[in-house]
Amino acid sequence: MSSSPLVGVLALQGDVREHIHSLERAGARALAVGNVEVLLTVVGLVIPGGESTTMSKLAISDGLLEPLRAARIAGLPMYGSCAGMIMLADRVNDARHDQETIGGIDMTVRRNAFGRQVDSFEAALPFAALGEPDFPAVFIRAPWVESVADDVEVLARIQRGDGESTIVAVRQGPLLATAFHPELTGDTRVHEMFVEMVREHA
Ligand code: GLN
Repeated sequence: MSSSPLVGVLALQGDVREHIHSLERAGARALAVGNVEVLLTVVGLVIPGGESTTMSKLAISDGLLEPLRAARIAGLPMYGSCAGMIMLADRVNDARHDQETIGGIDMTVRRNAFGRQVDSFEAALPFAALGEPDFPAVFIRAPWVESVADDVEVLARIQRGDGESTIVAVRQGPLLATAFHPELTGDTRVHEMFVEMVREHA
């Protein structure tokens, strides 16, 4: 088991560089993954934020969708933020009809769920597994989680304007997903949590 595991960031589209930087600060070695050969060298994979419909199209045209699904089924730890959360969902509401996901987390997410008025916002998010203080969570045209199976661990919920709360961070086995973008803040606790999951799995 390596104390500084090699973690990839899927580099089809999205904020790859920011995740690489956060992973390095969280104690991993990190590199961009743009093809199957590199995918096979990593012991963990981050799916960044961006645009999930574009990411899905590029994964198919670059021949990466099936290798990604195979890696996930083989147990490769993966962490998806925002569009990456959508990529790890078994079911997507408001998806394009031809949108494909890697899947693996038994949940239903809704794309662009927070609506136009609150397109992008930052919130201090209570996240018990990360301890204090609240996590500075940046949401950008974010999805939310509408439902999860019993064996999905809910890590964080956000209070909505209407008083309801919505799930925005989950874990199922070696898969972690957040609706927000921790790579855009100086706070590396989510990446540290993922690097720890990778270490446990190695
Ligand atoms: N709205 C985007 C999508 O559906 C996700 C936005 C993001 O990753 N910041 O893919």
